[in-house]
Amino acid sequence: MAEKIVLENGQLRVSDHPIIPFIEGDGVGKDIWKSAQSVFDAAVEKAFAGQKKVAWTEVLAGKKSFDQTGSWLPDETVETIKDHLVAIKGPLETPVGGGIRSLNVALRQELDLYACVRPVRYFKGIESPLKHPEKTNITIFRENTEDIYAGIEWEAGSQDVQKIINFLQEDMGVQKIRFPETSSIGIKPISIEGSQRLIRAAIDYALENKLTNVTLVHKGNIQKFTEGGFRKWGYELAQREYAKELASGQLVISDIIADNFLQQILLNPDRFDVVALTNLNGDYASDALAAQVGGIGIAPGANINYRTGHAIFEATHGTAPDIAGQDKANPCSVLLSGCMLFDYIGWTAVSDLITKAIETNFSRGYFTADLAFGKGVEALSTSQFSQRLIDSIGER
Ligand code: NAD
Repeated sequence: MAEKIVLENGQLRVSDHPIIPFIEGDGVGKDIWKSAQSVFDAAVEKAFAGQKKVAWTEVLAGKKSFDQTGSWLPDETVETIKDHLVAIKGPLETPVGGGIRSLNVALRQELDLYACVRPVRYFKGIESPLKHPEKTNITIFRENTEDIYAGIEWEAGSQDVQKIINFLQEDMGVQKIRFPETSSIGIKPISIEGSQRLIRAAIDYALENKLTNVTLVHKGNIQKFTEGGFRKWGYELAQREYAKELASGQLVISDIIADNFLQQILLNPDRFDVVALTNLNGDYASDALAAQVGGIGIAPGANINYRTGHAIFEATHGTAPDIAGQDKANPCSVLLSGCMLFDYIGWTAVSDLITKAIETNFSRGYFTADLAFGKGVEALSTSQFSQRLIDSIGER
């Protein structure tokens, strides 16, 4: 019988038939989800000789949801994901002029998914701008709930911004606002709790995966208390909670200024294993690192709250309206996000099979159009590529 995944004493309890909600996604979501689900099912069947099976259950969000229910993100969807802990989603169209600024942000906030996790690795056969892209193998932990993403800002010329500027100048003695008459103002909250829960997740991940280096990326030379706080609180946390691992050399914590980090990931990417960043820096670094190993069609991601267990795994690209419905999209982003999901619930045999099948097919020169471009090989459709994966999952 299909059962919900639950959190018991801080551990996920996953039955042989877990119910996992999915959001198909808009645009190419339909193309990639259908293919991905068949690959997931084939890998689960193979890994456990038919003893285990996921009960996928669709929940609505995005344009599909709006067309069917009149709501971009029905309460029922959020409640179902809350109740089932783990979910996976395709890309969602952002409503233009709607009440919700971004559906992805809304889901992250509703479930307090504080860690955005993006593993970045190279697959042989993929075009990269680097000479040695295989040296890039970095897992990003981006803080997901604070920083300027809190959305606290006021527009230049508004009454509200004037109130803030008056307060800063009159009550706080601030004299450095260069053009007070025409400035917009934004606020950047960075807290001890917010920083430490993210950095703790990064360190735990490193230890679990036998990775040594955890690097705190920050701009603390300029933003002393916010970005500098992130750095300082990170070191304090490591000293307090991981003294044994630090002493044994199992864990090495270091820090780097964000601009130098963007330089070093190109020059010496093998210096880094796991990196922890504040929200905005993490945003820039995620795309830069994804581009370095071949771009968005193959970049997976997850948003996780390790305390409650809630996690949403997602394709990191958008709805790709230019190729939607044409059976052309690359399904690897959602597939590799699925691999992260299977690792998260402890079904690592499944993710191993899928990752291996992707590696095998890339090395044999099988690609969807986005990756085949310029290689002189014929591009496979989404469904042809997925069928090849399913066939190679069966190979010994
Ligand atoms: P996009 O990622 O949809 O497309 C950018 C380019 O990459 C396009 O040329 C597209 O064809 C290509 N591309 C993207 N995914 C691909 C795949 N799987 N295979 C092959 N090629 C792929 O970005 P955009 O055009 O800026 O955004 C389109 C819509 O998606 C917008 O409504 C945006 O808000 C939304 N969006 C959603 C998410 C999300 O849900 N996580 C992320 C980004 C953008």
